[in-house]
Amino acid sequence: MNPVKAIKGTRDILPPSTSVWNHVEAAARDVFRVYNYQEIRTPIFEETALFVRGVGEDTDVVSKEMYTFEDRDGTSLTLRPEATASVMRAYIEHRLDQIPGVKKYYYIGPMFRRERPQKGRYRQFFQIGAEVMGPPTAGSESPARDAEVLEMLATLLDEVGLRDWSLQLNSVGSADDRARYNKALREALKPVVHLMCPDCQRRAETNPLRVLDCKVPEDQPIIEKLPKISEYLDEGSREHFDQVKKMLDAVGVAYSINERMVRGLDYYTRTTFEFTHGGLGAQSAVLGGGRYDGLSESLDGPKAPGIGFAIGEDRLILALQSQGEEASARIQAFVAPLGAGMNQAALKLARELRRAGITADLGDENFRLKKSFELAEKSGAQHIVIVGENEVNADQFAVKNLASGEQVTVPRAELADFLRK
Ligand code: AMP
Repeated sequence: MNPVKAIKGTRDILPPSTSVWNHVEAAARDVFRVYNYQEIRTPIFEETALFVRGVGEDTDVVSKEMYTFEDRDGTSLTLRPEATASVMRAYIEHRLDQIPGVKKYYYIGPMFRRERPQKGRYRQFFQIGAEVMGPPTAGSESPARDAEVLEMLATLLDEVGLRDWSLQLNSVGSADDRARYNKALREALKPVVHLMCPDCQRRAETNPLRVLDCKVPEDQPIIEKLPKISEYLDEGSREHFDQVKKMLDAVGVAYSINERMVRGLDYYTRTTFEFTHGGLGAQSAVLGGGRYDGLSESLDGPKAPGIGFAIGEDRLILALQSQGEEASARIQAFVAPLGAGMNQAALKLARELRRAGITADLGDENFRLKKSFELAEKSGAQHIVIVGENEVNADQFAVKNLASGEQVTVPRAELADFLRK
């Protein structure tokens, strides 16, 4: 026998873990609601050109990690490796710039990258993300948007119950700043690049900024001595970054500056950030994001500066679990029909309880009382409710608390309230 298994880098998320996922998604939706974000759903696959143009040809994501395939008509399609490019495509395609104001969208869904699988890194993973975009006249370029997004993220992580996260902040400047910085990096790399890893040797040619992502230990002393991005920010970018920092100080959101954090996607401009958590090991980034003021134009759209982020939901959940977050899907009542003909009465009672919001499981009239108790205990139910002929006739039920062993008789009309307590 050779049973079929899940593909490497994909996984089944099973109960009870799924209840932690539900908790995280519900908390995120609540936070998005009070910050006035609305959900957007874009397709799982898009034309390959969207990511090549949006994310950037020389990024690892596009050059090495995309799941790209030919459709039956020859069109090149790609499973989305991230969703910002898709949201921007939708914004352009549906002329959402015509609706007044800044647009605030959020999404929750799977992304696909063919990376080397390890803890916290999968080939199908989930992101909870949001984007703020719009015409500059609506305030989309303002540092106030950056600060608001970062403050919301701090709230969101607090709301889901993550402790001890840290925010790392940087500015990668405008497209012009980056061009000058890239030039300076290229110069500085020339005399030393032959000492570096093969990836860096390639990056030094194609996209020197990416050298800063290098994790090879031997390369680190060289990278530390390279020019710093902060020295290449023009007046506008520096002022923007100062404003963001001042607003974060004003609301008490702590951050540290990390000048090497240039992020893996080419569309970023000015503010970039990551939130990390110590419980994650090597893949410590829970989420990442930044501003992308030229993305719309690179997709032939109108001027639409914006800022967004993507939370790695898999990693957020690993981090929550590392601090002892337990899944808690508790059955409140195991309804146990006792004796022949009692299935109907038990189903009726279970229906009433469930409609009153009680989580209930249901036994079978063929079970003896002992077996019903065993099943109820194994299921982790808080109470067992016995539905025998006497109970039905009296319209009140024997209810036993399985933790304390205490047993009481409760009238039908009071049962849901009793179980809820
Ligand atoms: P990015 O879209 O690369 O900016 O990533 C944003 C966040 O998504 C990261 O901080 C991670 O938490 C998460 N992430 C990215 N790639 C993966 C992956 N292969 N597996 C799990 N999570 C990922």
